[in-house]
Amino acid sequence: MNKNVRKAVIAGNWKMNMTPSETAKLLSGLIPMVKGKNGCDIVVCVPFVDLMTAVTLTAGTNIKVGAQNVHFEKKGAFTGEISADMLKECGAEYVVIGHSERRQYFGETDATVNLRLKAALAADLTPILCVGELLDERDRGITTEVVSMQTKIALLDVSAEDMSKVIIAYEPVWAIGTGRTATAEQAEEVCAVIRSVVAEKYGTEVAESVTIQYGGSMKPSNAAELLAKVNVDGGLIGGASLVASDFTAIIDAAQ
Ligand code: PEP
Repeated sequence: MNKNVRKAVIAGNWKMNMTPSETAKLLSGLIPMVKGKNGCDIVVCVPFVDLMTAVTLTAGTNIKVGAQNVHFEKKGAFTGEISADMLKECGAEYVVIGHSERRQYFGETDATVNLRLKAALAADLTPILCVGELLDERDRGITTEVVSMQTKIALLDVSAEDMSKVIIAYEPVWAIGTGRTATAEQAEEVCAVIRSVVAEKYGTEVAESVTIQYGGSMKPSNAAELLAKVNVDGGLIGGASLVASDFTAIIDAAQ
């Protein structure tokens, strides 16, 4: 197992925060703070309406831009939805798929996550696929089964070539926005399970190259310990990504 074959990806998930003018302010602070920090890829996943501002402001910097969701159809009568081609043309390079808040509040299922993932790949967007167990599932001792099943369904009909473009984020639902972080050992254990699911389907070479992030109350004080784990290749960061100095400190921990 060689962690060095994978570049860490530190991605901020801004959720439903930041208007375009607030986006400009946050990024204007962040851009100089992370300049030259090329030891990891840096991504900000912003609300749809902030994409153009974010893409324009980060042009020529080491920050890349992503969206937080994508619809699976190419176009048509899907009022309020956004297609992968739309995101691509706006300059987004990444898209979060299957975040637990989408699953919990907006009825996303493993099946629609699979469709969205394939739509993103077809448009040449890098999907950040989120999987993770509920607290009740962890307490009942079925974390491995739940996360393996979510991963397997999300990757149905995804080719090995496409798989090498997918980022997976292990996000225990009980740790998201709660201030309660998984221990580094818990994160490592489940990230290793996810890698073994990928290896089973695509072989070791592909599995070794796949970036697997941890997400769930990652912050400056716990980032280094989490990121040091051999199967944890980066972080998906909510709350702390809204504060430029905190996000930068996490990026520093990943260098
Ligand atoms: C997230 O939104 O994916 C997340 C991990 O949030 P937080 O860091 O706030 O727990």
